[in-house]
Amino acid sequence: MNTETIIKRIAIFGSTGSIGTQALDVIAVNPDKFAVEVLTAHNNDELLVQQALRFNPNLVVIGDEKKYTRVKEALVSKGIKVFAGEKALEEVAVMDCYDLMLAAIVGYAGLRPVLKAISNGKAIALANKETLVVAGDIMMRKAVENRVPVIPVDSEHSAIFQCLVGETRNRIEKVILTASGGPFLGRKPNYLVNVKREHALQHPNWTMGPKITIDSATLMNKGLEMIEAKWLFNLKPEQIQVVIHPQSIIHSMVQFEDGSIKAQMGLPDMKLPIQYALAFPKRIRNDMPRYDFRKVSTLNFEEPDVKTFRNLALATDALNKGGNLPCVMNAANEIAVFAFLRNRISFLEMTDVIEKTMQNISFIEKPTLEDYFESDGEARNFAADLIKL
Ligand code: NDP
Ligand code: MG
Repeated sequence: MNTETIIKRIAIFGSTGSIGTQALDVIAVNPDKFAVEVLTAHNNDELLVQQALRFNPNLVVIGDEKKYTRVKEALVSKGIKVFAGEKALEEVAVMDCYDLMLAAIVGYAGLRPVLKAISNGKAIALANKETLVVAGDIMMRKAVENRVPVIPVDSEHSAIFQCLVGETRNRIEKVILTASGGPFLGRKPNYLVNVKREHALQHPNWTMGPKITIDSATLMNKGLEMIEAKWLFNLKPEQIQVVIHPQSIIHSMVQFEDGSIKAQMGLPDMKLPIQYALAFPKRIRNDMPRYDFRKVSTLNFEEPDVKTFRNLALATDALNKGGNLPCVMNAANEIAVFAFLRNRISFLEMTDVIEKTMQNISFIEKPTLEDYFESDGEARNFAADLIKL
């Protein structure tokens, strides 16, 4: 069969978000390669309906059940099926109408549908890093058992993945995760104590959803990414190094046993790793702007300041200790970021909430999936009580 003619059927879980909408941009210019079969949104019914009318999927899911009727009325005449509620995400994840799930829901909420999709043999293009932070061992084990590829969308992990093409027999000495440093690079606690939500939401290099933008400002994002890298590439904690690279041109690097280092580079644009993950193993030609070495003269690198950005130290601790600690940290972080975005706690208080929660929830060395669900719930309650949410 001519592989050129096979159209991949895509399910975008979280289609109304930053990753979801950029994925639709990629698909829109490649209608000969991809068909959209599933779209899901949580609250944004208007955008979901617009997307469905444009891409004509088999079905859509709206998380908020109060919006079901409105979405149904808008799409019924087009023959597009409509589902609502949290459970529907898991039901749709196991349907036969698609080949590859783009996991682009933010946070823990994306975990159950991803696990269902893997159990049902669906390939995963993974943006939702929190799923691996919470239950990376279980998720990757299931993926191996079901021979399911988990292809990273996160730019750093896409870079590492691209560096590893053709290197299956060669041992990785270490991976070097690059971090932009976020909007507060070089700042100290006496400055951070006063920063407000609006300021923290201004990322210098990337436009992303609100949660990951705050995670980038606190460096928690890089901590989550260390844990993500551990599971995706089967690494030991000491094989993962973070380096600050403010220009975000080198997206990450792999150092092999002979000391040779491979880097993947390009202008910062999430459409590139998204399209690589959707089209893997092929590359697709595009007209996006190119990086020109003659126009930018310097690329800088420095060590992260973990004394100021303590979330990165907490995440390193979670990475080293393992068990349910990354899951607990992730839950506390989701609560803390939610509270910060609602002006309920300050920038530095986010770290205190995460640290206290990590100290207080019982450690489980080898958690089951149920243990992860319970640890997540306990950590959320504990963190919310601290903040008095
Ligand atoms: P956004 O906040 O922009 O989008 C999140 C998506 O998930 C939306 O479609 C939203 O629906 C949906 N959603 C939110 N909460 C729930 C819930 N409880 N149940 C079901 N669906 C929900 O996030 P991003 O696109 O920025 O990020 C998505 C994931 O990708 C995150 O895990 C992030 O870390 C990761 N990532 C993002 C990058 C980026 O550039 N944005 C880069 C690398 C990784 P609705 O809008 O309708 O409410
Ligand atoms: Mg990233």
